[in-house]
Amino acid sequence: MLAGRYFDGKTSRLHRVTLTVSGDTATLSGDVERSCALRELRVSERSAYAVRKVTFPDEACFEPDDRAAFDALLDATGHRDSVVVRMQRSWRMVLAAFAGTVAVMVPGYLYGLPLAADYIAQAMPASVERKMGQGLLELMDKRVLQPSEVDAARRQRIAASFAALQAPHADAPSYQLQFRKGNIGPNAFAMPSGDIVLTDELVNELSDGAVLAVLAHELGHLHRRHMSRRIIQGSVVAATGGLMFGDVNGMVSTASAMLLDLNYSRDAENEADDYAADMLLHNGLPLRQLEQVFELLSRERKGPSNAYLSTHPLSEERLARLRQRGR
Ligand SMILES: [Zn+2]
Repeated sequence: MLAGRYFDGKTSRLHRVTLTVSGDTATLSGDVERSCALRELRVSERSAYAVRKVTFPDEACFEPDDRAAFDALLDATGHRDSVVVRMQRSWRMVLAAFAGTVAVMVPGYLYGLPLAADYIAQAMPASVERKMGQGLLELMDKRVLQPSEVDAARRQRIAASFAALQAPHADAPSYQLQFRKGNIGPNAFAMPSGDIVLTDELVNELSDGAVLAVLAHELGHLHRRHMSRRIIQGSVVAATGGLMFGDVNGMVSTASAMLLDLNYSRDAENEADDYAADMLLHNGLPLRQLEQVFELLSRERKGPSNAYLSTHPLSEERLARLRQRGR
């Protein structure tokens, strides 16, 4: 028997009653006499802040005076709190939930982000990549690039020689060569749109054969969609938001900020080198052409920061791989 207060749900008048439970039925007696099947009663969840109460189908309610005795009665009648309440009550569960969140978040950040970037890059429609790349090129044209001053005949010769080469795999990416003068040193980029930008500084530094090797390397980056992935990874939130809302301009401005200090991972460089080596060999060209690029450009390393080597970092491993292929 449990003493408590009863409200009829219509007026604020308090009635003193006692509650007894027998079988499946709860009975109130005292100022008010009523019985109700247990399954028709709602019991409010256990909480540190609110008085626990029993609500009848007509919104009348009973509030026990003694909470501990009430809890004991509920246990005795087999009442179960909802899972959430039982979980919240247990600090062990809370701690486990926190640890679980950390366990999911940390690897998610380390491994999930590159995977997500790959997934998004794969899922990204070609039209979005084209727009993003075009936007980037326009922005760079406005800010850092000017029309090329390399002799037009030489530009044509390079473009024609490269166009005459066969791609090493069936799914060759489409590309457009873009010659530009700029104050970004000797450099080359493969934009997500397929625009391969070559700076005059790079072209002037290298023989035609070596320029073809650079182009093959850039085509390798395009083939693996490295820049799209890198941009998405570098700004995964902005990029997914951009994709979802079709805000390509937002992605472009994020990407352009990254572009000039973009550097590819060792894996990406190896993939692009492998593609370039495959392409050179496939067309009966010497791998020396690619080695020359590294040699010539690394000789200039001491100069005012070699842009090509900072965007396409050169490692001993890269050279060793290439020499291995050449044997
Ligand atoms: Zn590269």
